Amino acid sequence: MKYSLACVVWELTLGCNLKCLHCGSTAGRRRTRELTTEEALKICADLKQAGCRGVALMGGEPLLRGDFFTIASRVRELGMELSVITNGTIHSEEIFAGLKKLKPRAVAVSLDAAGAALHDRIRGAEGAFARSGAFIERCLKEGLPVSVITTVHKLNIKELPGLRDLLKGRGIAWQVQTAGAEGGRFSEEFLLDREEFYSVGLFVEACRREYTPEELPVIGAHDLGYNSLLLKNVSLYDKWEGCQAGISVAGIRSDGDVLGCLAINDGRFIEGSALATPFYELWSRPGAFSYTRGSETSQAGPNCSACGHAQACKGGCSEMSLMKTGALHNDPYCFCAIEKELFAEELGDPFKKLKLRLAGLAGRGAFRRLGRMFSGERGAREN
Ligand code: SF4
Ligand code: SF4
Repeated sequence: MKYSLACVVWELTLGCNLKCLHCGSTAGRRRTRELTTEEALKICADLKQAGCRGVALMGGEPLLRGDFFTIASRVRELGMELSVITNGTIHSEEIFAGLKKLKPRAVAVSLDAAGAALHDRIRGAEGAFARSGAFIERCLKEGLPVSVITTVHKLNIKELPGLRDLLKGRGIAWQVQTAGAEGGRFSEEFLLDREEFYSVGLFVEACRREYTPEELPVIGAHDLGYNSLLLKNVSLYDKWEGCQAGISVAGIRSDGDVLGCLAINDGRFIEGSALATPFYELWSRPGAFSYTRGSETSQAGPNCSACGHAQACKGGCSEMSLMKTGALHNDPYCFCAIEKELFAEELGDPFKKLKLRLAGLAGRGAFRRLGRMFSGERGAREN
């Protein structure tokens, strides 16, 4: 079977000027060996050959690389879509002019709180909030499609309403995701428990009901809140089809190592080096990404084995499952399982279940408009 590669998330460098508490890759210092410009340009061509449609350049902080625009321009010249994920603290006229020229699908800036004190504490740098805010303003002025990414944990979950008020009505797309425990600076005690995790989904859903996609285009990350009986899928996708690592997405580290998803910060899942083997060969090699491509319903762990969704879902987000249970195909943070636990009594009534499902289907017409807001077509409205 041929797998169609929608997006590659590429860590251009692990170097970073901030020290964010929750950083899953514990970025700060560059890796001992990072790709040279020539190696990176070769990988761009290999990605194109693999049929890759979009590339998201991130770090560390990708704008720290002197050859950022050389690599980003090559991505565009090859006809692939480009997203840039930055902390927004590095500014120069050349950067704004360069970004504009690239015509990116999104320039995504991280904001973790609605005010400076907490954001700067989380990001480990005084003045980060002000600089990122100024970066966003300038990008908006330049007509760039701006997104804000908020990574939620116990320290900032209460910031969501403040961030909503800060962002609404500004043409900024907002992605809400939750922190993982992979980073060396992040203590597990700050991770959301299941109820808090669910409340983030409820918050996103409430925003979607309250505001049109033009007023506040908000989504949860694709692994937040799937297979819910009560809520529409809070991510951009109407239907959850299981972990996409190695199915439609892949990740490349700054040293050239290839994984199905960079959220899986675990050497056992490195498929190979894009320096040693062309990316298109790694992508199409028989037996590659076997934990998703080759997974069988029978591999579902105890959290998933009795679930009616197990065949399509295959046990949820690989990273969350590994982080929480040490095993794949056993994600305890899916909304389906959380709801069964939280609302056992209500969900026991089959008629109530049907009503809830119908309520969840309401309002799906907004999906297409939301999709356009997240593909840089911010001005487009539904006819
Ligand atoms: S219980 Fe497991 S298989 Fe079922 S929806 Fe949740 S993650 Fe997917
Ligand atoms: S590991 Fe989780 S975040 Fe990564 S592709 Fe799979 S579902 Fe998405």
